[in-house]
Amino acid sequence: MLAARLPSILPPLTAAELLEVSMIHSIAGQLSGGKLSDRRPFRTPHHSATMAALVGGGLRARPGEASLAHHGVLFLDELPEFAPQVLDALRQPLETGECNIARANHRVSYPASIQLVAAMNPCRCGMAGEPGHVCARGSRCMSEYQGRISGPMMDRIDIRIDVPAVSAADLIRPMAAERSADVARRVARARDMQRERFTAAGVPEVTTNARCATSLIETLAELDAGGLQLLRDAAEKLKFSARGYHRVLKVARTLADLDGKSIVGRIHLAEAISYRIAGERLAAVA
Ligand SMILES: [Zn+2]
Repeated sequence: MLAARLPSILPPLTAAELLEVSMIHSIAGQLSGGKLSDRRPFRTPHHSATMAALVGGGLRARPGEASLAHHGVLFLDELPEFAPQVLDALRQPLETGECNIARANHRVSYPASIQLVAAMNPCRCGMAGEPGHVCARGSRCMSEYQGRISGPMMDRIDIRIDVPAVSAADLIRPMAAERSADVARRVARARDMQRERFTAAGVPEVTTNARCATSLIETLAELDAGGLQLLRDAAEKLKFSARGYHRVLKVARTLADLDGKSIVGRIHLAEAISYRIAGERLAAVA
């Protein structure tokens, strides 16, 4: 449900983005009745999806789900149920924002600048970690299931959150909620800050921290000495890859932007590091 709501807090597509999205959907034969929406795409392929269905290919080299989600959200539910080689085919588009389809004598390339959201159970029976539960297959139930997601794939997931089961009490208690429109305004302000920063840095074609070059994010994060020390300690203790290190910086920069702060504080860094730790534990198990 959270993944499906994500497009509602993202800024509407710009005219140029809308044109790109329409062209891809048109090539894929998925432009229904010529009706265009500035809502960002949200695609949810089933876990039985083939590599061609996900990243493009087949007889006519059609765009896949990753390209149909261009400028929007690609949601993969039950992540470990996808074939491992299909998931690994997503690594390249996640890195470059493009899907390349190799043919006998030429190559087709479709844009695929996406936000990937994935959900998974902790193990095949879905109960590992629940108080009082012991999996029938013991600890292998969890390690084998999580091991289906490769380390390099996991390394490309920046925000990892454990979601405990909802109790009856959670459902009864009224929850303090923020409206999507209010969150969307905060996101739009953060995106404005990022656009201005990248324009000032001479790279106006970059519009989000996620797409920023690693060398540039080190400058733009503007860490103070304390922040730098915290990040170095965490990177060493938690054995971040070089990619992981820079991705933490990007997430921290975004958290500071959402906070309306020009300097990335220790609090933003600590939060960004915590989002990577949940997955480091997963990776350790795997
Ligand atoms: Zn289990």
